[in-house]
This record gives sequence, C-alpha cells and structure tokens, in this order.
Amino acid sequence: MSRQDPDCIFCKIVSGQIPASVVYRNDQVMAFRDLNPVAPTHILIIPLEHITSLSDLSPEDEPIAGQILLAARTVAEKAGVLESGYRLVFNNGRDALQSVGHIHAHLIGGKGMGWPPFAGQSVGHG
Ligand code: AMP
Ligand code: ZN
Repeated sequence: MSRQDPDCIFCKIVSGQIPASVVYRNDQVMAFRDLNPVAPTHILIIPLEHITSLSDLSPEDEPIAGQILLAARTVAEKAGVLESGYRLVFNNGRDALQSVGHIHAHLIGGKGMGWPPFAGQSVGHG
C-alpha cells in the first residue's frame, strides 16, 4: 500500500488497528458504518490509500475515484436502499465541515430527506 498516514483514524481502520463495522471491501476501497449515524443507513466509503480530500485527487487517482462511486452502488444494494434512494455526500474542507482528513463519501439513506441542505439558514451569496 503506497500512501498511508500513521496518525489518520481511517488509515487505522484500513489496517485493522481500529475496529469498524465493515460492509464492503475490495483492493482499492472499503465501506464501514459511521460511528454516529445521522440516518438509519449511514455508511462511509473510503479509499484504502490515504488521500486527504477531494481537492487532493490527481489524474492518476482516477481509478480510485471511480471505485468509490461504484462501491456506493454495491453498498446501497447491500444496505437495502438501492430502490428507496440514498444520498452520497463528500464534505470537503472547512465550510463543508470535513472533520476527518481522509477522503470519505457518506452514503445516507433509509429515510426521506430534505433539500436543499441550507434549509432554515440564511444562505448569502458570493
Ligand atoms: P466528516 O465530518 O465529513 O469528515 O465525516 C467524518 C465522519 O466520520 C463522521 O460522520 C464521524 O461520525 C465518522 N467517524 C469518525 N470516527 C469514526 C470511526 N472510528 N468509525 C466510524 N466512523 C467514524
Ligand atoms: Zn488516512
């Protein structure tokens, strides 16, 4: 495995140092249940390699980026939300409240959702 960060909590999940409820894993990505779910289905999909955020993806990472999206479909099916629907969210950077610096897609479902995400807040423009 090339890129790993020994201080990264999700790298520790990849290596098995920290336990997780694993839903899916292949040679490039894995998916596990979020520790603090915000919906009946809340699963995180991560690359096995340490990449800090979407903004750090480079053209060579195209296979990994594709694997994350393909894994979402597989995970949705395993979680039973393929037909009912689900949302895939990448929090990227400060304004989006990214709290773990290892790319992760939140797969959320099992319950009807609202849109847009700023409902009830003043949005502002710029
Ligand atoms: P974000 O705020 O988008 O960076 O999302 C990070 C997510 O990781 C949060 O939803 C946390 O609940 C989740 N999380 C943090 N530590 C763990 C862990 N050890 N196992 C599973 N989920 C975790
Ligand atoms: Zn990491």
